[in-house]
Amino acid sequence: MPHESDDHQQPQPTVGSHMLASTEDMRDADDILFAHPPRTVTRWRCGCGEDYPCPEVRFAQLVKRATVRSER
Ligand SMILES: [Zn+2]
Repeated sequence: MPHESDDHQQPQPTVGSHMLASTEDMRDADDILFAHPPRTVTRWRCGCGEDYPCPEVRFAQLVKRATVRSER
């Protein structure tokens, strides 16, 4: 019988025996946390039921923008 109890022990880090992160690791962690902020993705819904802006809204916005530009 294999020592099954050994597999159920607490997982031990195989990277190294040092418990404290090096300053380099700390800097890397800071960079990672800075580059990977949690993001809340809010989805806009159009009144017609599609994701906003729906093609029609996009078209309308294009027309509006073109009108504003031509009026100058
Ligand atoms: Zn729409």
